[in-house]
Amino acid sequence: MQGKTALITGGSRGIGRAVSLRLAQAGAYAVVNYVRNDAAAEETLRLIRTAGGDGEIRRFDVAVFGETQEAVSAIVAARGRLDILVNNAGATADGLIVRAREEDWDRLIGTNLKGTFNCCRAAARQMIKQRWGRIINIASVVAEAGNAGQSAYGAAKAGVLGLTKSLARELAARNICVNAVSPGLIATEMTASLSEKGLEEVLKHIPLGRTGRTDEVAAAVAFLASEEAGYITGQVLRVNGGLYI
Ligand code: NDP
Repeated sequence: MQGKTALITGGSRGIGRAVSLRLAQAGAYAVVNYVRNDAAAEETLRLIRTAGGDGEIRRFDVAVFGETQEAVSAIVAARGRLDILVNNAGATADGLIVRAREEDWDRLIGTNLKGTFNCCRAAARQMIKQRWGRIINIASVVAEAGNAGQSAYGAAKAGVLGLTKSLARELAARNICVNAVSPGLIATEMTASLSEKGLEEVLKHIPLGRTGRTDEVAAAVAFLASEEAGYITGQVLRVNGGLYI
């Protein structure tokens, strides 16, 4: 990935940090996006540089249309290109539908789904000019299997899959591959709040019998971002230990 520029949204922590590191180790210049956690983003950049890679951090809210278009324009102006976009920024707010709050619905759709649209829109323009691009959207097992108490999250992530498939068809003629990676239960801050009992319950349904690691998701993303994955588009690559088959 030498000479390529990658934008990883939500790259400050969890899966996004692992993806940023992995792409930077493969030679890409990693633009690490985040929304509030400066210290975590700086730590990701430190890890990248320690591993011999290069990149920068960029704070913007993926849910805000104008911010994303400006940020991507600035990246393209500074780097002259944008080759890889990983839409990883995400948020959850669990709760039963009868108690669901309108603002949570709006926030989850805004970050997970509209955020993905916003960044795809901004990046596609440059990738079309380059006649080369890789877009990898991070979905979730919840998009495919559903999960009680996660209706807004599941709807947003199912939307991400629909967006991925239509964009794959739309951008294929310009040599831009658009795919989704759908993780199962990965050990990050997002899933740390799960109770011991809740975790035990989920583990019963995971054939591989354990939670996934962020580097296991990053490996799938790195493959889809590579030159070798040039004949794969519109697909959903599941990294879920067999939780949903
Ligand atoms: P974390 O909660 O650990 O990290 C979330 C990241 O997203 C942070 O970097 C955060 O930035 C960033 N972020 C949140 N909102 C915004 C926003 N509006 N604009 C820009 N950045 C934002 O999440 P995970 O690493 O666990 O999850 C990463 C992705 O993988 C998400 O899309 C999630 O839905 C998906 N996923 C995760 C699974 C899991 O088991 N962990 C399972 C299936 C899917 P900051 O540090 O500034 O807050």
